[in-house]
Amino acid sequence: MIKLYDLQRITHEHADEYKAAMARVIDSGWFLQGDETKQFEHDYARYIGTQHCVAVANGLDALYLILRAYKEMGVMADGDEIIVPANTYIATILAITRNNLKPVLVEPTWHHLELDTDRVEQAITPRTRGIMTVHLYGRLACNEQLLDICHRHHLKLMEDNAQAQGCTFNGKRTGSLGDAAAHSFYPGKNIGAMGDAGAVTTDNAELAATIRALANYGSERKYVFKYAGINSRMSEMDAAVLRIKLKYLDHDNARRQQLADFYYGHISNPLITLPERLPDAHNVYHQFPIFCKERDHLQTFLAQQGVQTLIHYPIPPHKQQCYYEAWGHELSLPVTERIHAEELSIPMSPVVSADEAQQVVDVLNKWQGTSQNAI
Ligand SMILES: *Cc1c(COP(=O)(O)O)cnc(C)c1O
Repeated sequence: MIKLYDLQRITHEHADEYKAAMARVIDSGWFLQGDETKQFEHDYARYIGTQHCVAVANGLDALYLILRAYKEMGVMADGDEIIVPANTYIATILAITRNNLKPVLVEPTWHHLELDTDRVEQAITPRTRGIMTVHLYGRLACNEQLLDICHRHHLKLMEDNAQAQGCTFNGKRTGSLGDAAAHSFYPGKNIGAMGDAGAVTTDNAELAATIRALANYGSERKYVFKYAGINSRMSEMDAAVLRIKLKYLDHDNARRQQLADFYYGHISNPLITLPERLPDAHNVYHQFPIFCKERDHLQTFLAQQGVQTLIHYPIPPHKQQCYYEAWGHELSLPVTERIHAEELSIPMSPVVSADEAQQVVDVLNKWQGTSQNAI
């Protein structure tokens, strides 16, 4: 079976370095908020190109804490609206609703799969406070038009950079394009920890300090609580591992781009649509999504032929049970729904071999659709 994402093989590549780093943490006897975390925050801020990085427990917390801090700072209030792409992973929406803010779902474009900036301006109301753009699948979801809209309407531009570490726009990395950005180091992301971890990057010192306090029970000084905060900290073990992973991130992304280049050059089945290709600077290929009307049939065929795939994601947020009260079944978002009906992610990682890539392509090109289609 060719795995979608062979985490064991990926981890083996630098296992000795991870083990040495973990041994260092064990020997230090210090497991939270120590030198490893401080050093990772420094390295990651430098990599992304921001003044500040606050390490937190996971990507969802990073998203939540940005919005929560803006509320504590008086920039946002209950019921304010945040524009967000309708086809994102549920975490982006959860972070908004958990803050008693209102997610305003905007359709992506079919060709680019990211927030349709032409539709953003129509979604702005007097209650709009910010735009949370999502660099989904590792694809850049920002352009001059979006920056201009945020500037003209005095909106906070926030990035969900959980899937796009290393991606750039105009020579700047995603995570530094707006006012604040959330990052996830879930094990399967382009830079993954060995458990849950996340971070916020920003140039805003007040925002960073507020998030740091909120993530530590709301405390700036030990046992003095300014906010009713949460517990969201990165472990020293994960910080030590992530410092190593960060060194290899650009190299690993380049290997993903090479695999994508092969896929674009060799997948030729007319029943399969590939997403519009972006320049490598704008895509770090967290996933390689393909689109197909008979997606489920294709997925079964691939599994039978030894190719593992996954759907990102089978049900869009507005159709989820947990948001039934928010959107009911009336809301119709045809582009989003089409993406969710036709998307299939094929093996993509730095460790897919040339042989495996060839096999994936052969199986895809061999597929003839259902008999209905073959006639
Ligand atoms: C993974 C992911 C998150 C959440 O990150 P966790 O670390 O799993 O909490 C948020 N948004 C997007 C787009 C993601 O892919």
